[in-house]
Amino acid sequence: MATEAEREQNLEVLTNGAMGEVWEWVRSKVPEGLEIFDAHAHIGADVDTRTMTADGMRDRMDAAGVGRAIVFALNDPNARDDFSGPNDVVWSAYEEHPGRFVPFFRLNPHRNYETEFERCVERGFAGLKLHPVSQVFELDEPRVVKLLGMAAEAGLPVLIHTGFAMQRIVEPLIPTVEAHPELRLILGHSAMIELLEAIRAFEDHPNVLFETSVVRAKDLYVLFSMLDPARIAYGSDIPYGDFPSTLHATLAAAEAAGVPDSAFTGLLSENIRRWFP
Ligand SMILES: [Zn+2]
Repeated sequence: MATEAEREQNLEVLTNGAMGEVWEWVRSKVPEGLEIFDAHAHIGADVDTRTMTADGMRDRMDAAGVGRAIVFALNDPNARDDFSGPNDVVWSAYEEHPGRFVPFFRLNPHRNYETEFERCVERGFAGLKLHPVSQVFELDEPRVVKLLGMAAEAGLPVLIHTGFAMQRIVEPLIPTVEAHPELRLILGHSAMIELLEAIRAFEDHPNVLFETSVVRAKDLYVLFSMLDPARIAYGSDIPYGDFPSTLHATLAAAEAAGVPDSAFTGLLSENIRRWFP
């Protein structure tokens, strides 16, 4: 367990020394007075031993000028089959910091998810997170298609992991996106292994947003070169990412691709914030 002092030191390391100049550049690019909105962060514990507490997340947000963050469980070692335990941890974090966190719940599509879905929607969770690699499913399996339809009907945004270790993203998602044009979808990590296909398939679907965390610089550059920046939302993927380096990666790629500074308010906040008034 890190002490308070150690925690503060960790935060300072990210904005000082070798990172000092990087952080200064980031601050110069963030529009004056803008509260950054992080579209992808985790609270809880993971089978890979990563952890993040609600207070740790809030401290990082305070240090980086991040106003709100979408938060959801990690691939929790203590997840009951239905994720209800880890979902409760996220809900408690939200109750402690209601102005800072936008709580999403996680589900395992292989299990009987109806009860946990209903419980979380009634409780007031703001969205659903699905991870096809961790829970080992394809996006066009009938139980997954049904679940995405339930989210569409409930008006619930869905963030899907479309990053490392994914095999199929765009082709299995197209029928669902076309059947539910009202479904608000966040492509976590911007479907990076099928980036070009994803841009082509979803550029005319305004309710599909591309989220920037853990995307390689080259792919971020392609994303900002080819897609309207109004369709892109910044994410940190804390605890896998950190605010200074993910903000730097996103803003540097946007600038290199010629995205005007005037689009940064949307990119860092408004594009996703408008879904959670
Ligand atoms: Zn993540």
